[in-house]
Amino acid sequence: MARQILPVADRAQVRSYARRLVLKYPRELGTALGLHGLAAVSGLAAPRLLGDLVQDVRTQAAVDVAGVALAIGAFMVVQSVLIGCAVYASSRLGEKVLAELREEFVDQVLALPLSTVESAGSGDLITRTSRDADALSRSVRHAVPETLIAVVTGVFVVGALILNGPLLVLPGLIAVPLLWFSTRWYLSRARDGYLRENAAYADMTEGLAETVEGARTVEALGLAARRHARTDRDIATSWRAERYTLGLRTVWFPSVEIGYVIPVVTTLFVGGLFYIEDWVTIAQVTTATLYVQQLIDPLDRLLSWMDELQVGGAAMARLLGVADVPDDRVAGSARPDGEDLAAADVRYAYREGHDVLHGVDLTVAPGERLAMVGPSGAGKSTLGRLLAGIHGPRTGEVAVGGVPLVDLPLGDLRGHVALVTQEHHVFRGTLRDNLLIARPDADDERIIEALRAVDAWEWAEGLPDGLDTVVGSNGAAVSPAQAQQIALARLVLADPHTLVLDEATSLIDPRAARHLERSLAAVLHGRTVIAIAHRLYTAHDADRVAVVEDGRISELGSHDDLVAEGGSYAALWDSWHGVR
Ligand code: ADP
Repeated sequence: MARQILPVADRAQVRSYARRLVLKYPRELGTALGLHGLAAVSGLAAPRLLGDLVQDVRTQAAVDVAGVALAIGAFMVVQSVLIGCAVYASSRLGEKVLAELREEFVDQVLALPLSTVESAGSGDLITRTSRDADALSRSVRHAVPETLIAVVTGVFVVGALILNGPLLVLPGLIAVPLLWFSTRWYLSRARDGYLRENAAYADMTEGLAETVEGARTVEALGLAARRHARTDRDIATSWRAERYTLGLRTVWFPSVEIGYVIPVVTTLFVGGLFYIEDWVTIAQVTTATLYVQQLIDPLDRLLSWMDELQVGGAAMARLLGVADVPDDRVAGSARPDGEDLAAADVRYAYREGHDVLHGVDLTVAPGERLAMVGPSGAGKSTLGRLLAGIHGPRTGEVAVGGVPLVDLPLGDLRGHVALVTQEHHVFRGTLRDNLLIARPDADDERIIEALRAVDAWEWAEGLPDGLDTVVGSNGAAVSPAQAQQIALARLVLADPHTLVLDEATSLIDPRAARHLERSLAAVLHGRTVIAIAHRLYTAHDADRVAVVEDGRISELGSHDDLVAEGGSYAALWDSWHGVR
């Protein structure tokens, strides 16, 4: 099955983003690079001094070995101090950039349209927020600074090598083709390899998360063997993907190692021949050999971090890809005029080509109570979610006061219409914070008023720290009924004029039901209510009943009218009534 995963950014996007990131703090970057440059320069003195020393010994000039040793020691101390400062400067910069990257990513994830998250599955998103974010932070913390250091150091060493004697640069060049071609070979395959590796890992996470979430279903339907097979298959795919990238490294690493050793040997050997020809001095040969030796370290860093940079680049492509998800709402500036909610020719599909709503028209007047009934799978919940603006319709329009719901900023939308379901998450934090989610500018008085309205102030007042009590996981335990009251109090604070009530999911703990129904009634009071009714007496009490069948509204009218019409609703009512 080809799972639709979230988009992945392309190379150009990653490159331009990385460039923007690197150049965002030019001063900090300049300082870090400058310090690394100075450190590199002070490291260049020792080979030069040693070369001269050898020369002096050769020509039997007066030699001050102690002086030279002291000088080399002094340069090393200076270099160490400079490296320390440089590492500090670049780490600081890295952390700063990383923190911003994370914040940006969190914002993007939170802005993802719900329907995209649902169709892409949570596994992909979880992998991106965990594994990819980690990979990227490794890159930003280590790979990027190390690479920059390596480049700066390398440039200075090569410069020194040329100044020492251009002729002696030549023998070292022999390794260039080997390093060049093996690295190109590797890099051209690595990106796709790592992308595949990460995608395979996401699939595996997705499968496991699904199995755990659906554990009861798996057990009830005896799906264990099938889930097992899927996990095995995912592991096999992931293993193949990892093996491929490991294969790439197995070829590339040894080639590079050989590429490092060859230049040292050839510089010494060919340098010796040049010396015999009298083209260079012995001091130059010594210095050049030491420089070439010194070049191994930055080169090795550069190439080995290339690998990490590739992993980081792949991770970044996946993180940036999240921003490519088209927004499902385009906040306009129009303000709704009135409170009537209207759906016009609404169609909706969870999967392309499979509409579950086929052109629904419905107008709900302010203050009206509308019940939706119909067989399971007819599309009631879907219509409810569309009326609450959770999803935008595929075609057609759902509008409040003449403004399409998808044109309203989320904050405004929730002030007009909200969906009430059984999902009532209590976030870890204070009780106050849990309520402020609905209306960030509410003061304590308003919060207490909302809690009172849903009959919750009694117990909330008794909490050890009142509104400051930490609730949610690890905090003070709140019962499911209390959690539901918190959710209802949020609604009171958000104060939407219309509520869409999904009864199927708001079935509550029977012991608390009576209490909660009072709270709910208080919240519903004075608002437009669209109730997805699973108990027909809800329909009986409503102003109008909409019968949803096969993604269409087949009957619409008051209970009495529909019963008199003798259609599906009348049949439903009869059978239900008969049973009682
Ligand atoms: P009802 O609330 O009347 O029981 P729903 O609106 O839940 O009906 O479902 C209508 C149709 O849409 C059903 O065929 C159902 O299988 C399908 N459906 C509901 N939710 C999803 C989803 N998240 N992904 C794909 N199909 C869905």
